[in-house]
Parts: sequence; structure tokens; C-alpha cells
Amino acid sequence: MSVAPPLFTFDDSFARELEGLYDPWQAAPAPAPDLLVLNGPLAAELGLDADQLADAAGVQVLVGNAVAEGSVPIAMAYSGHQFGNYSPRLGDGRALLLGEHVTPDGRRVDVHLKGSGRTRFARGGDGKAAVGPMLREYVIGEAMYALGIPTTRALAVLATGERIMRDRGPVPGAVLVRVASSHLRVGTFQYAASTGDRDLLRRLADHAIARHHPSAAEAPNTALALYERVIAVQAELVARWMHVGFVHGVMNTDNTTISGETIDYGPCAFMDRFDPATVFSSIDHGGRYAYGNQPRVLQWNLARLAEALLPLLSDHTDTAVAMATEALQGFGPQYETHWHDGMHRKLGLHRADGSDADVARLDAFVQAVPELLRAQRVDHTLFFRRLSHVLRGDSGPARSLFADPGAFDAWAESWLALLPVERAACEALADELDLVNPLYVPRNHLVEAALDAAVAGDLAPVRRLVEAVSQPFDERPGLEAYTEPAPDHGAPYVTYCGT
Ligand code: AMP
Ligand code: MG
Repeated sequence: MSVAPPLFTFDDSFARELEGLYDPWQAAPAPAPDLLVLNGPLAAELGLDADQLADAAGVQVLVGNAVAEGSVPIAMAYSGHQFGNYSPRLGDGRALLLGEHVTPDGRRVDVHLKGSGRTRFARGGDGKAAVGPMLREYVIGEAMYALGIPTTRALAVLATGERIMRDRGPVPGAVLVRVASSHLRVGTFQYAASTGDRDLLRRLADHAIARHHPSAAEAPNTALALYERVIAVQAELVARWMHVGFVHGVMNTDNTTISGETIDYGPCAFMDRFDPATVFSSIDHGGRYAYGNQPRVLQWNLARLAEALLPLLSDHTDTAVAMATEALQGFGPQYETHWHDGMHRKLGLHRADGSDADVARLDAFVQAVPELLRAQRVDHTLFFRRLSHVLRGDSGPARSLFADPGAFDAWAESWLALLPVERAACEALADELDLVNPLYVPRNHLVEAALDAAVAGDLAPVRRLVEAVSQPFDERPGLEAYTEPAPDHGAPYVTYCGT
């Protein structure tokens, strides 16, 4: 009889190098595991055998009932600022790292369970996760991936067969199998710093450098170089969120990665109507994590990372603070550059070619777009998507998004005047815009409806939604419902005469 090859190829560098930042731990048993979704394309990318993952023995591993060959599950320790308040000990309260899988092409990824039972870090929590939120993480992660935004992804979601208590009563429990380039967070550094063990902090920094920012190893001050690189990847990440109207919802320092991947899809959502004040989280009363605040919050989180790194930057606190401050001052300009670059692409403007005066004029034009969209109550996704229609000679669909169509006409006239091409080339530019401005994003009302159906036992809407958002730029017949804003939150329907 042949023996099945191991499911994963584990090589646990975190556990090996960073004792003191984790506990070996075991998942709680799941009484009746049921594989709800398995991410076939992701499995293939990682060199995993999807059939083997989906068979009875694979399911036992994915849900945490069996330990895969070569796996030593651990609960990771981290601290974090949650809504601005510091918690010295958060950590994987309901999660476990199964191991670091090394893909056939040499990529290293964490394979992590969420909802796998209480750990030493569980505090008051039950250690469990619910089917709805875990499927949400699957859907949004796939959407972000397809949009080209760095993100963790779900390999699988399994129902545990157990009902768990949540605010609105008992709901089906689930385990999410998450793949991430790592689970190093700002909060991991905060925890290491809080131990006062400078050697541990140093090893953590070296580990992060080797894993995510290897060029920092060559710098004269490696910790400073690491910090600068985290600033760089996070400045780009948050700019990309802004371009697609994504609101993370819980930008605590424990949800801010060192890799620059988006992590922890909780009360996150894509905006319909553009409004910087958009908040989806019911617990975010002050709007701390509102859409328009995200760049500022990120910068604040990066300042917390600096505090943790200070002992490594220099032996002299003043010098260390000066270094960190200077590096962090780079965040604003880097964010602005990424934001402008992306907005120029979304609008088909070419910034690089012109004189300084041209660039200033373009930047001023771009800068004014958010306020226009807000004042006109315009759907963010459709506005950008329908610009290609304008170039193809049909302004109607974009115009109809505006509360006052006259405001669109004036704007469109200035926009067309700024475009770098002759009208003859408009078709090509229109095609280009359609590759940048998505048509299908996981709009909140669609996500909610799909999750409700899934919780009631019907997974088809989740599958269809994932299909739509997995090719966000490719218009396909039959998916019209996936392009519309929520009926009560969308732009008001406006009729008008003459175009
Ligand atoms: P999150 O909001 O998912 O980023 O989690 C923040 C912190 O709370 C982390 O330390 C989690 O492990 C912990 N946590 C969240 N939900 C639970 C739960 N149901 N049981 C135990 N710990 C939890
Ligand atoms: Mg978290």
C-alpha cells in the first residue's frame, strides 16, 4: 500500500528562531467538520494537492482535528493598540500557525487556522469563529487578490459542526485556513519590545528582514532599513485601498503587517457612494477607521512600530527617535505619490510626460476629484468604470451617477481636455481604463446576502460572488446585479435630457 505524501512541506523558521514569541498549542476538536470551500487556484499556486486536502484525512487536518506531518502548531504572541488603546497581551486567542509551507518554487507562506479554539491568549473569548465572518474573509481576500492588492488569502473554510454563541444568538462555527506571507505584525514588535529582551527584538527584526525585506540586510543600520521598508510597503498598500474604496474597519496595530499584506477582514467593506466618513464597523463609534482616515491611522500605527524598534535603531534614545522621526516623515510623501500615481492611472492621465506646470495642473485636478464625488453622492466604483464609456462616446452612464448632471458635464469637459491622446486613440485609452477600474467589487449588500444564504446552507451565492469578483475588470453578461450599489445607499437616480 502506498503512503500518501505529506499535505504540506513545512519549515518553521518562526518557531526555530523566535522562542519566547509563541506557545506550542493544539486545536480544539471540531465535532463534525464539513469543507465549505476549498480555494483550488490558491492550492495549485502553492503546489498543494487539492484532492488530498479535500479528502477525509485532509479535512481533519484543515479543521485542526489532526496534525499534519511535520507540523508543530503554535499560538503566536503579540500586543497591539486597539482603537488607540494599548493591550500588552493579545496574541492568537483563537488561531494557530500550523507551519510555514515552502512552495515548489521556494516561496514561504504561513498556513494558519482561525477559529481553532481557545489558547492562552484567549482572554474572555470563546476561541471560535463563525461561518459568516470566515466566508467574508474568503470572499474579500479573493477580491483583493484579483484587484492586485497585497493580501492574505483563504485556502479553505470549514464548518465545525458546532453552534457557537454570538450577539444575535447561536450560529454555525467555522475554521478558516489562512495563507499569508507571514503573520508578523506591528503588534509582534510591540510584544517583543515589551519583554525588554533586546536580543529577542533583534532576532525578530532579523527574521522579518530575511523574510520580507532582504535588501535591508545590506544597509548600515538594518533596523532602520527595515522600518523604512515597512513604511514603504504600507504607504503603497493604503493608497491602493483608497483607489478601490476599501475600508478595512479595524486598523489596529495587531492588524498591520510587516509584509505589507492586508490582513484580518472583519467589519471591512467597499464603499458604494463616495464619502470619506464611511464606516462599516458597528463598534467604530468615533469613525477612527473611516475611509478617509486610513492613511493617517496607518501613519499612527507606523509610529507605534518605531517606538518598538527604538532600542535597535541606536544606543542613544535621542538619536533613535530622530532617525525614526525622519523615516516616518517619508510616509506622507510616499503615500501621496502612490495615491496620485494610482489616481492618474484611473483617470487615464499621464503625469510623467509633462513639464512641472503640467504636473501641478494635473495634480490639482486629481486632488479635487474626491470632493466632487462626495458632494455629488457618486458611486465610487461605477464612476471610474464608466469613464471608459465616456471615451467610447457615451457619457450617459457616468453622468447619471451625479446628483447634478451639470456638475458632471463641467468636470468631464476639463477631464477630456487633460487627456493626452487624440480622440482617435480613445478606444485604446478606454480599454486601458477598463484594466485599471474594476467593475465587480464585493459590495456590502451582495456580501451580506451571500453570507446569509451560506449560513442557511446555500453556498451557491458565495461561489457566484467569488466568481464575479475574481475577474473584477472583465465585464461578463449575466453579472449585472453585481455591479449595482445597494438600492438604498446608491446614487440617486437622476433623469436628464440631452447629452
Ligand atoms: P481581531 O479583532 O480578529 O483582530 O482580534 C483581536 C484579538 O482578539 C486577537 O488577539 C484575537 O486572537 C482575539 N480574539 C478575537 N476573537 C476571539 C475569540 N472569539 N476568542 C478568543 N480570542 C479572540
Ligand atoms: Mg487581528
